[in-house]
Amino acid sequence: MRFDVLTIFPDLLSSPLQEGIIQKALVAEKVSVHTHNIRDCALDKHAMTDDRPFGGGAGMVMKPEPIVASLDKIEKEAPGGHVILLSPQGRPYNQEIAQELSGLSHIVLICGRYEGFDERIHRYWVDEEISIGDYILTGGELAAMVLVDSITRLLPGVLGCTESAECDAFSQGMLKHPQYTRPREFQGHEVPEVLLSGDHRKISEWRFAAAVQNTAEKRPELLRQRYFSPAELLILKKYKVDASLCLIRINRK
Ligand code: SAM
Repeated sequence: MRFDVLTIFPDLLSSPLQEGIIQKALVAEKVSVHTHNIRDCALDKHAMTDDRPFGGGAGMVMKPEPIVASLDKIEKEAPGGHVILLSPQGRPYNQEIAQELSGLSHIVLICGRYEGFDERIHRYWVDEEISIGDYILTGGELAAMVLVDSITRLLPGVLGCTESAECDAFSQGMLKHPQYTRPREFQGHEVPEVLLSGDHRKISEWRFAAAVQNTAEKRPELLRQRYFSPAELLILKKYKVDASLCLIRINRK
């Protein structure tokens, strides 16, 4: 997987790449991240990347020419990248989109600043726009790093145990089950007995039921979108899951 990131603040991108799993993935060449300073492709001697909006109004708008010149440079170096504009107007990002994008081999991310981009960039120079949430950041760099991080950890061989990505929250259409580690008893709170039983089938059933319960409490809307098989419904019944939203769905089936 190759990422190219276009920004006017390339230094903002360095720190998230220097630690942990992402740094290891870079060293192991599972992924490469190339940053491009949009300013390097500016046309005038002051290296301007923004200008006042036609029609007046507050703030500055990112000029199209340096962005398109940067894209052309990347296209010559490594053709065929999927171009994503980070924008609050984009498709709301989630784990499903991360999965989908992790199947690509080359992604180009364009980070905005100021009041955002000239509309012609939105319309004619990108494959899609992605938003990382309904709030406004000062720039697209943190959003770009959210994509780089969440996509990289899904690439084969990046996580030590491939199982962990499959068991993540959202990958099964609901939140993850609760987890515990030592000590067995902490300030009067015990670890559920079943997790100490060594019975893998029981543990797996308990985890499934606890994940549904957790989701019903914290993100009930996720359960309305998830199909429960007859075998899963039996497990829920056995563990008397107190998940009213999920039970509504069960009754409908
Ligand atoms: N005035 C713009 C608007 O309301 O759409 C906001 C521009 S914002 C201050 C500057 C840049 O930050 C955007 O062009 C985009 O690249 C990035 N950005 C801000 N919020 C974002 C979000 N929620 N998701 C993705 N990128 C975002």
